[in-house]
Amino acid sequence: MKKINSFCFEGKRVLIRVDFNVPLNSTLEVSDTSRIIAALPTIKKVVNDGGKAIVMSHLGRPENKYEECFSMKHVLSDLKGLVKAPVFFSNDCIGENPKSVISKMPNSSILLLENLRFYPEEKKADYDFAKKLSELGDFFINDAFGVAHRKHASNAILPKFFNNRSCFGFLLSSEINQLNKVLLSQKRPVTAIIGGAKISGKIEVIQNLIQHVDNLIIGGGMAYTFIKALGGDVGSSILEKDKVLLATKILSDAKLYGVNLLLPVDSVNAKAAKNNATIKISKINKIDAEHMGLDVGPESVLRFTNVISSSKTIVWNGPMGVFEIDAFSKGTVGVAKAVASATNNGAFSIVGGGDSISAIKRFNFESNISYISTGGGAMLKYLEGSVLPAISAIQD
Ligand code: AMP
Repeated sequence: MKKINSFCFEGKRVLIRVDFNVPLNSTLEVSDTSRIIAALPTIKKVVNDGGKAIVMSHLGRPENKYEECFSMKHVLSDLKGLVKAPVFFSNDCIGENPKSVISKMPNSSILLLENLRFYPEEKKADYDFAKKLSELGDFFINDAFGVAHRKHASNAILPKFFNNRSCFGFLLSSEINQLNKVLLSQKRPVTAIIGGAKISGKIEVIQNLIQHVDNLIIGGGMAYTFIKALGGDVGSSILEKDKVLLATKILSDAKLYGVNLLLPVDSVNAKAAKNNATIKISKINKIDAEHMGLDVGPESVLRFTNVISSSKTIVWNGPMGVFEIDAFSKGTVGVAKAVASATNNGAFSIVGGGDSISAIKRFNFESNISYISTGGGAMLKYLEGSVLPAISAIQD
């Protein structure tokens, strides 16, 4: 497969799948431009070559139809501010509207298409929808690592229409290179830290990771389902009753594979996830009925830190608690500190996923992490050895 730098895009219409799924604040302004900035090298390469950069992405979770709050137009002014080239907008991602803008826009300019997920066909990996997208370009570049583990029309089907005329963008290439470093070097012990709200989104990944790591630290909301599986009282903590059996299986798999699986031993609880809530720290398996566990406690942080500090490779995805609220951020900060100091002592650390990245940034540990991946689920899937549909679609 050819690399992006081996192509010259002069006079070409170049479709670029990016991940502009950026956070918006209550007035629908972009609150973190990192994902836009990450895609700029690829967009600029097309523009500087004299091509037309046709940029497409999804944003948020619209219900398969136009929803003002998920319009890509909210990203437009930030994109304009970050590039020197003229930037146009099309209020549709397929059909006559984008075709007409593309035919009129000059070379070395950019067109931002409306949210791909306003069409249900995008997530259904619909062939005809991909075909309609393909009519907008002469060349296809995929630079969206964050969704590379999803089989969608714009990343997994679209390349079929661009035989020998597709490649990875700079961001996606560098993600693959960095993740390959982890896979190839495997300096042991390897520790995976998985947190976040629920097991359901990460269950397969956890099951697969067990076969590859020495230590598996589980924190965040998902830990309470494991504690329930062990017979603990988790009060009104977030609990996935239908996953308790699965959690039991993971605990026994960990034993089978000789993995040191660490669960929190204490929990920071409150009646509600509010900053001024009265906080009660308890053993994690003894939470009162009216309290919910919202962060891992100090004893857990200590135990996690001990394991992290003796690790040589560390992979982290998902916060240890409701870190967005200061009162419940200490567990996540503690883990971030431990990962940063292990990195300073020579470990290779990789952190991925929107929440983990914003935690790292919020507490200023960015420069102490070896690599920050733009993918959460995609990063974990790649590291567990899965073939990512958007990557194989271009490599095939
Ligand atoms: P995820 O998208 O699965 O990585 O989940 C991230 C979200 O999990 C963050 O918004 C956290 O606030 C939330 N979270 C972490 N720990 C807990 C918890 N103990 N209870 C409820 N939500 C949590």
